[in-house]
Parts: sequence; structure tokens; C-alpha cells
Amino acid sequence: MSETEIDLFVIGGGSGGVRAARIAARHGAKVMLAEEYRMGGTCVIRGCVPKKLFVYAGRFAHDLEDMAGFGWSVSDARFDWATLIANKDKEIGRLESIYRTNAEGAGVEIVTSRAVVEGPNAVRIVSTGEVVRARTILIATGARPAYGPDIPGRELAITSNEAFHLPALPRRILIQGGGYIAVEFAGLFRALGSEVHLVQRADVILRGFDDEVRSHLTTEMERSGIHMRCGRTLTSITKTESGKRVRLSDGTDVEVDEVMLAIGRLPNTAGLGLESAGVELDAAGAVKVDAQSRSSVESIYAVGDVTNRVNLTPVAIREGHAFADSVFGGKPWTVDHRLIATAVFSEPEIGTVGLTEAAARKEGLAIDIYSSTFRPLKATLSGRQTRTLMKLVVEQGSGKVLGVHIVGPDAGEMIQLAAVAVGMGATKADFDRTIAVHPTAAEELVTMREKTR
Ligand code: FAD
Ligand code: NDP
Repeated sequence: MSETEIDLFVIGGGSGGVRAARIAARHGAKVMLAEEYRMGGTCVIRGCVPKKLFVYAGRFAHDLEDMAGFGWSVSDARFDWATLIANKDKEIGRLESIYRTNAEGAGVEIVTSRAVVEGPNAVRIVSTGEVVRARTILIATGARPAYGPDIPGRELAITSNEAFHLPALPRRILIQGGGYIAVEFAGLFRALGSEVHLVQRADVILRGFDDEVRSHLTTEMERSGIHMRCGRTLTSITKTESGKRVRLSDGTDVEVDEVMLAIGRLPNTAGLGLESAGVELDAAGAVKVDAQSRSSVESIYAVGDVTNRVNLTPVAIREGHAFADSVFGGKPWTVDHRLIATAVFSEPEIGTVGLTEAAARKEGLAIDIYSSTFRPLKATLSGRQTRTLMKLVVEQGSGKVLGVHIVGPDAGEMIQLAAVAVGMGATKADFDRTIAVHPTAAEELVTMREKTR
């Protein structure tokens, strides 16, 4: 068994690991990175990117429906799932090779293998058995889909991992969960024409989001024809001649072609050798880290989903960058996990930043709420039954905008810019002073004058 000595060993070639490896190498560190599956990680291979491509595919169906009111007619429009999958796979392959080239271009040595920790300064490359000695180790192994309780027939269900490679568009699908992945896939499958059932254990979807956002999206999803079955769980799945039969906790059965579990994700720490190296994990199996992303072992750091802080790609990237600058660049800085804007690519989209109304009240803050729903201009001629929601949570006295919540087309694009203003401490008066861009949906954010409560 040979032993190599390096400065940094990164385990995991996803969003956080690749950024950390590249930046550390640019700072002059000798870096090795092990990836057991495909470079780019969850976001590129089976997360954000292919998901957004699927969302775009579904939106063309909406456009085809909407165009008639504007005078257009298209005959013989057809959707081909196989073409979408093939083109998506080609694009993902292109992005994967860019990730590899960029890392190698920065001087990172990439090993295609599983790697495990052998001690505070040692990593074993599983495919060769080689042990590499590293001054610093970075755990960036991400997370994997949870399967939940072991109900009969659970093995018949898929997760988001498999949803990207289905041989055909499911005619009928049941999705369990009420979080990001469940509502996004429910929306895109429905737009592509599937019959969709969403089963969620809580009474309302999207725990943690603003209550008005949660109820507004529920109404929109119901309006689009999604069967919302909240307050229920799955008790069994059986194979039938024509598909799968799902028994729900209320005793009803639902017949579908596919069952998809989207009930959260678990940090990838199992079998990684962390406990034997002395790295502390939390109750969910995530690596416990401090503000510098350092674990309980001085030479071992962790970034991204494996730390279960805020499980989003830009956050993993930022954590990886801060780690590399701090440890190898002599420029220490930490990531501010407050005020992170986020989008849910549901139909319609959600964009949100800052405090929800409930969270602000729980903190004992005196607040004013400005909230408005309206029919988007495009819907007037298309006839689509949909409404947009805009909401501001404003602190009384200081007038500071504490939260912005949007449900409607392009909410993700809008919230990115609103987040700049909120991050700078903008007040309601700042919003009011800004002259509207007309006619847009976003102008509502700067023209809401009357308090709702
Ligand atoms: P990952 O990107 O998961 O990378 C970890 C890598 O480590 C993987 O490639 C894995 O194969 C590898 N690995 C694991 N164990 C080992 C080992 N022992 N040895 C070698 N390699 C190993 N976030 C957004 O911001 N916007 C979105 O729109 C969005 N959409 C999403 C949609 C879906 C369906 C999913 C599942 C997630 C989505 N996310 C989105 C979340 C985002 O993908 C993650 O937050 C992000 O990828 C986390 O990056 P990471 O570097 O921590 O881990
Ligand atoms: P989420 O944590 O967002 O949602 C999990 C859902 O599953 C919740 O509705 C939860 O219900 C439910 N649930 C959890 N455990 C069980 C169980 N045992 N039985 C039944 N239901 C259960 O996880 P996702 O899997 O949707 O996504 C994982 C993460 O990936 C997200 O949190 C997000 O960080 C990231 N992501 C980001 C996206 C984006 O930025 N657009 C898109 C996709 C993923 P309850 O509310 O009752 O707890």
C-alpha cells in the first residue's frame, strides 16, 4: 500500500467540494478530490439543473394553452418524453465535463472512486486501497433521498434520482411529501399532462414558508388539477396488472403508474469512517461544524448538504469557497446563513427572502403586513385561472422590510433582486420611493400603499 502526502483531500465532487478544491488549488495547495459517481454532484446530475429543464418542458404546455387567446393556433403539437430525456442527458454530460475540466485546469487531481476517512489525516481510496495522507480533509459528500418508514411495497417507489431516467412519462403518478421536491415534481408532471396525486402528512404543504404562500400555492395546485391529499400518509404499495395501488392512512386506495417519495434527504455520512476518526455527528447524521465549517476534529472540515445547514447549491458553493480562502488563502471569512433567498420551481413559482409573518410575530416584532393578490396581465387574454401573490413583512417604527414573499410567474427571478435590497436593510419608504416598471408584476412590490393588517 503506497502513501501519498497532500495538503487537501476533498471527498465529494458536487457543488461545495468542487468549489473548495478549485479555490484551494488556486491558492497553491496540492489537492486531490474523490467522486464516486459523476462530477458536478446532485445539483448538476440529478437536482437543480435537470429539474429546471423539466420545468421548462412543462411550461411549453401552458404556453400552448395560453396562446389561443392571443390569436395563435397550433395544430398537432405533441410532446415526446424520450427526446426530452436524451437532450437533458446530453446537456448534463456537457456540464459534467466542464466541472471536470475546470477542476483539473486549476490543478486538482480527480480520482473516480469512493473514498473513506481512515483518521484525522488519512483517506482511503476504496477502488485501489491506496491511503492518502492529507494535512486537511474536507467532507463534501452531500445527501441522499430518504425512504421513510418501511411500509409494505416501499421498494416499488422511486425517488427524484430515478425520476430523471423514467422510460416514459407516467400517465398517473402519486408523489409523497410536501416540500420543495414534491411540489416541484407535482407541478412539472401535471404540466406535462400526468394525473398527479400529492400526499402530504401535514395539513398544509411547505412547512417553514409563509402561511399565505402555502395556502396560495395549494389553491393554485388544486386549480391546475393536482389531487391534493393532505393529512395522510402511505400505508402500503402493491403491484397491479395496470400499475401500482397505494393504500393511504385514511383507508382509500389510489391507482397509479408510479409512486415517488420526496420526503426529505439524509446526509451522506454512513460508512464514511467519521465516527472512528472522532468526528461528531448530530441526531440526523449530519457533520457538526462551527462557523468556519470545522468539525470536532481540527484537521477535518465539512461543507454543503452533509452539514444540513441550508441545503441549497449556492450555499454549498459559498461554504466551500469560504473554507478554501480561510484555510489555504490566508483570507478568513465565514458565510452568513441569514437572509438567504430561495425559489421553489412549482407552478406557479415561489420566491422568498427573510422572515415570514409567523416567524416575525414569534420573535415578538411589531409588524405591518402589505399583501396583494391579482390576476397577471397575460391571464386576462389567455383566460388562465391563476392569481399572483405579493407580500411584504415590514417592521413598525424602523420601517425595515423584513420579508418578501412572492407566488407567481418569474418569482425566482424577482426575489434575487429583492434580496439585494432586503440585505442592504431597505425600508418600506425605499420601496415606495422606487418608481415602478410598468407593466410588470414586480411593480406591485413598490406600489402597495395600504396596510393589509
Ligand atoms: P452534492 O452536490 O450532493 O455532492 C456530493 C457528491 O459527493 C456527490 O456527487 C456524491 O456522489 C459524492 N460522494 C458521496 N459520498 C462519497 C464518497 N464516500 N466518496 C466519493 N464521493 C462521494 N438547490 C438549489 O439551490 N436550487 C434548486 O433548484 C435545487 N433543486 C434540487 C432538486 C433536486 C431534485 C434535489 C435532490 C436537490 C436540489 N437542490 C437545489 C439542492 C442541491 O442540489 C444541493 O443543495 C447541492 O447539490 C448540495 O451540494 P453538496 O456539494 O453539498 O453535495
Ligand atoms: P423537504 O425537507 O423540503 O420536504 C420534506 C417533506 O417530506 C415535508 O413535506 C415533510 O413533511 C415530509 N416528510 C418528511 N418525513 C416524512 C415521513 N417520514 N413521512 C411522510 N412525510 C414526510 O425535502 P425535499 O425532499 O423536498 O427536498 C430536500 C431539500 O433539497 C430541500 O429542503 C431543499 O433544501 C433542497 N431543494 C431545493 C430546491 C430549490 O431550491 N428549488 C428544489 C429541491 C430541493 P412535514 O412538512 O410534515 O415535515
